[in-house]
Amino acid sequence: MWKRFRLEIEMSCIFCKIAAGEIPSATVYEDETFRVILDLNPASEGHALILPKSHAADVTELNEEIAAKVLPLATRVGQSMKANLGCAGFNLVQNNGEAAGQTVRHFHMHVIPRYEGGPVIAAWEPGTSTPEGLAETAAKIQAGL
Ligand code: 5GP
Ligand code: ZN
Repeated sequence: MWKRFRLEIEMSCIFCKIAAGEIPSATVYEDETFRVILDLNPASEGHALILPKSHAADVTELNEEIAAKVLPLATRVGQSMKANLGCAGFNLVQNNGEAAGQTVRHFHMHVIPRYEGGPVIAAWEPGTSTPEGLAETAAKIQAGL
C-alpha cells in the first residue's frame, strides 16, 4: 500500500521527470546521482537547482549518502558561476515544507548567483532576542538531538 502510494508520488513528481530527462531542462551538470538544471523563474541569471535523481520530498527524507554529496556539488556549481558568469557571490537556499516556502516537494538545493551592485537578499527580517529566551529555545532543540 505504502509502496504503491510512493510510486504514485514519484510518477507525478515534476522534478523526478526532469531529473530522469523525461521533461527537457537546461542541464548544467549530470551524473548518476544528480541533475543540475536552471530554474525557469530565476532570481538572477544562472539560478540553478540541484536535483537528486531519486525522490525525496525534502531534506528529512534524503538518504545520508546523497545528502553528503549535495554541499560539495553546490560548491562546485557556485565556483563555476563565479568563474564563468562573473557573479561576486552566491546563495545556497534549500526550503523544507510549505511553511518554509517549498513549492515543489522533491528535495532541491538552489544555487543563486549574486552580482556586484545587485540587492543583498536576506531571507528574513532580523528580530530581537533575550538571553533567557535564547536559552529556553536552545534547550528545546537540544532535547531532540
Ligand atoms: P521551492 O520554492 O520549492 O524551493 O523552489 C522551486 C523552484 O522550482 C522555483 O524557483 C521554481 O521557479 C522552479 N520550478 C518549478 N517548476 C519548474 C520546472 O518545471 N522547471 C524548472 N526548470 N524549474 C521549475
Ligand atoms: Zn520527485
